[in-house]
Amino acid sequence: LVTDDPILYRARVAPDRQALFEIATGQQFTYAELDARIARCGGFLNGVLGAKLDGTRVAMLARNSMDSIVLAFACQRAGAIYVPLNWRLNAAELRPILADCTPALLIHDEEFSAVVASLADADAAMTVISTADGPAGLAARIEASLPAGPVPADADGTCVLLYTSGTTGQPKGVVITRRNAFFAGVNFSFVGEIGPQTVALCDLPFFHTIGLIAVARTTLMLGGTLVISDRFTPARTLAALADRKRAITHYFAVPQIALALRGDAAYSASALSGLHALFVGGAPLTQALIESYLEDGVALVNGYGMSEAGTVLHVPIDRRAVQDNPGSVGLPAPLLDIRIVGEDAHEVDQGEIGELWLRGPAVSPGYWNKPLESAAAFTDGWYRTGDLGRREANGFYRIVDRLKDMYISGGENVYPAEVEAALASHPDILDVAVVGIPDTRWGECGVAYVVLRPGAAGTGEAIAGHCAERLAAFKRPARILFVETIPRTASGKVQKHVLRQLHSDETL
Ligand code: ATP
Ligand code: MG
Repeated sequence: LVTDDPILYRARVAPDRQALFEIATGQQFTYAELDARIARCGGFLNGVLGAKLDGTRVAMLARNSMDSIVLAFACQRAGAIYVPLNWRLNAAELRPILADCTPALLIHDEEFSAVVASLADADAAMTVISTADGPAGLAARIEASLPAGPVPADADGTCVLLYTSGTTGQPKGVVITRRNAFFAGVNFSFVGEIGPQTVALCDLPFFHTIGLIAVARTTLMLGGTLVISDRFTPARTLAALADRKRAITHYFAVPQIALALRGDAAYSASALSGLHALFVGGAPLTQALIESYLEDGVALVNGYGMSEAGTVLHVPIDRRAVQDNPGSVGLPAPLLDIRIVGEDAHEVDQGEIGELWLRGPAVSPGYWNKPLESAAAFTDGWYRTGDLGRREANGFYRIVDRLKDMYISGGENVYPAEVEAALASHPDILDVAVVGIPDTRWGECGVAYVVLRPGAAGTGEAIAGHCAERLAAFKRPARILFVETIPRTASGKVQKHVLRQLHSDETL
């Protein structure tokens, strides 16, 4: 079963059901049409790359489209590896990723052709094809190809290489096997309550696990309809959600998108009233945002996961569960073992903070080309997430912070996320990040990088006073520095290693 692909199954049992709808073009595919196009795309891959595609990498630098889905499944059927690239990265950031995965074929949108031109120079062996209209473009070439049948494959063969966000350093290529992809889909189908009636809107990019695996793959695996949007704008997303004819049931956002939607002039709670679930995940969520949605009767369902394992924890789709568990990331997906482990590699007691370790069929076997990082993170059958969390008495989990970001001040553990939450409640503060830096007296101490709201007059003393009312002395930042922006990844996560570097450069 897991060596097969779910579209073959759906095309047999429900050929006429709608599989895909593309907002940008209004095009749609039934499962039979999607299956046929994947077969032709397989023929196209064979034509360009040869008949034996055992593990050949096929990279894509493109916005969400029907053909990105077609290509992903065609790679799986042909025995190739699909590598969706983050188009928010620049050429200098993409170059090491391409050098790492060495694709034989790179498919790109015209929009990114300048970046691609500078990347292709470095690798003459790489074939480059554009998604542009015209006879040389991807669509025409798929249509002109003869269908190819699926290649018998091993369940433990790799079908996708997914690069991490690069929040803690260089992005790492996560190996996703057919088995991983299948069981990540099963996991999300349970926590997301996905089924044939699901109509899921996806404007999160297909180069992250949420878009490609949770939303797109799971919806198609379960026979629902995937509505593809090639970009997020609050107006477009709100219009799609409010469109009763489309009847979207599921939408997945990252916190920054949920914030942008709620703050948009076109926002109204009624636009969201047709949703079965509004998911949010991928980065810490503020309590203020959850509450502002709850005031409108919308339960923002928080979830936690990562490229290496897909969906791990999710608050149940239930208003009471959201209301009663503020700040929680919920309960484990069904096919995951979770341990919370202390420094001695033993499980800590319930309520204690430790590192989350994961095991299960959706968990990746390791990183591409990175034996050292793989050996450090994937040990004895467990994946060490690098995230700190704890389990409450009712079985719900909380994420405390990243292990790499925790620091020890005067012998006490400080979790910057807690300090940031206290700072963020100050009305003058727009954005904030706290990092630990070496300190001769305390071992380490905290530095708060603060972005003030436009026009706000917040002073260091006022902010320090605000912290003193809310935080124990050892948690209060020793320095408050005002900055214009906080460095973030393309998906909006704070890059603390950049701030730590900045601080050590400044104090040299
Ligand atoms: P890198 O591994 O390259 O440093 P990354 O860990 O940000 O980057 P991803 O796999 O895209 O790359 O993101 C997974 C991480 O995002 C998790 O390990 C966790 O730290 C964070 N995260 C995901 N969901 C949540 C959530 N709901 N709340 C808090 N943090 C979350
Ligand atoms: Mg990570």
